[in-house]
Amino acid sequence: MQQVTGVGGEALEVWIDQDLCTGDGICAQYAPEVFELDIDGLAYVKGADEELLQEPGATVPVPLPLLVDVVDSARECPGDCIHVRRVSDSVEVYGPDAE
Ligand code: SF4
Repeated sequence: MQQVTGVGGEALEVWIDQDLCTGDGICAQYAPEVFELDIDGLAYVKGADEELLQEPGATVPVPLPLLVDVVDSARECPGDCIHVRRVSDSVEVYGPDAE
């Protein structure tokens, strides 16, 4: 497992660009608490009550104990469509738009 660095203890949130999702389900395997495939075959983030958030760009907080799993999901995502960003300034820290 790769080390996760550069977070600095800041609160992070994650969202999925369903337009690019291939539906392979890797994210749901890595972090089923955060990601799930819906009946349309695309992955969505899970909100409170395990509800899938269908609005484009919907975000959920990244629980610290699941950070590595979420970051691994972003790194392995074939669609390059998992975006992890800081809550404070919305800067992407893991994902296709991270520096
Ligand atoms: S890993 Fe990426 S492409 Fe695969 S289901 Fe999850 S969001 Fe979609």
